Amino acid sequence: MSHPLQITVLGATGSIGLSTLDVIARHPERYQTFALTAFNRIAELRGLCRQHRPRYAVVASSDQARVLQEQLIGDGLQTRVLVGEGGLSEVAAHPETDVVMAAIVGAAGLRPTLAAIQADKRVLLANKEALVMSGALFMQALRQSRAVLLPIDSEHNAIFQCLPGDYAQGLSGVGVRRILLTASGGPFREWPLEQLSDVTVEQACTHPNWSMGRKISVDSASMMNKGLELIEACWLFDARPDQVEVVIHPQSVIHSMVDYVDGSVLAQLGNPDMRTPIAHALAWPERIDSGVSALDLVRIGHLDFHAPDEQRFPCLRMARQAAQNGGTAPAMLNAANEVAVDAFLEGRIRFTEIASIIEDVLNREASVAVHCLGDVLGADAQARRLASHWLEGHNR
Ligand code: NDP
Repeated sequence: MSHPLQITVLGATGSIGLSTLDVIARHPERYQTFALTAFNRIAELRGLCRQHRPRYAVVASSDQARVLQEQLIGDGLQTRVLVGEGGLSEVAAHPETDVVMAAIVGAAGLRPTLAAIQADKRVLLANKEALVMSGALFMQALRQSRAVLLPIDSEHNAIFQCLPGDYAQGLSGVGVRRILLTASGGPFREWPLEQLSDVTVEQACTHPNWSMGRKISVDSASMMNKGLELIEACWLFDARPDQVEVVIHPQSVIHSMVDYVDGSVLAQLGNPDMRTPIAHALAWPERIDSGVSALDLVRIGHLDFHAPDEQRFPCLRMARQAAQNGGTAPAMLNAANEVAVDAFLEGRIRFTEIASIIEDVLNREASVAVHCLGDVLGADAQARRLASHWLEGHNR
């Protein structure tokens, strides 16, 4: 390799961002940090800048930018601080960026991720919400570009690894019968149903197998994460919702499987550590050390599988329905979920009310066809309004 690839990490202060920087730091001859972005954790961003010395840092407000810029100058760094969505898209599409890790949480990641695609980057997609909300438009932008999209979600990365290189011609064309999307079932898989309304934020954010950001931890506990992943899989692999079967696998060792018409089932296994899919996508089609220890199957002993219980997990049912309805339904599902999860994390609603809010929003607003990004953003905004309205009624 002639020169290190320049990496922009959108959402550098988050769980995926930090894992990405860990992998990058193991391979200084291959990768250099080009830009790092943050939203609230500015002190952490400053620490990351001191450690990785990026060309750019991006923060949310001008005030944050002014303070950080002065601090970085004081630290003897030449890092330039940019601001807001414009700054995020600028570093994502910058001519000197080779690879963009899209690891902002939620709909806020949509525009910079699209900017990276339109600028023909290698895009490592962790920010599933961006694809879920804008599905067809996102994939159209990808087809119209020379960008390469590699999935970071461990399940989709596993499916990608189990598919042949020419899967883009259609799943049936390469002999795929089904995708088996594995799910740990989260912390409440076996809780008595009547206790779910008393779940605390701390309990919801404590995942049995993975260490993740707060929003995706709550999504995993409600199984909305698996619902979003189902929609993500449909777009990434051009699958129908009924071709994606969710299988509960509590150990999170098999990260997903592909079932072929000849009866073969290919699986990708590994310890539950996001550095594996990150390293895979960074180096693809090569392989590099990720820092993840070797899988010890003898110690694990057994692998279990169950069917998901949609009464316990109504979010999974609603996501499957949104995938089937298409149009603006996934964008509304995603936006209502973001508002509801924020409200839960702030202690304003019960865990079980996350599903109630989403159901209410989806019942009030019919899905319509999507023609342009404005349709997606309009549906997102309307779902947020309706969800906020639900919350106002609830707090009265
Ligand atoms: P975290 O909450 O840990 O990190 C989120 C990152 O996004 C932080 O850097 C945060 O900045 C930044 N951010 C938050 N809001 C905004 C905003 N409005 N504008 C710009 N930046 C923002 O999340 P995770 O790392 O856990 O998840 C990131 C994405 O990856 C999600 O889409 C998630 O679903 C996906 N993912 C995560 C996995 C995991 O193991 N964590 C596994 C698979 C997918 P700051 O911290 O400074 O506020």
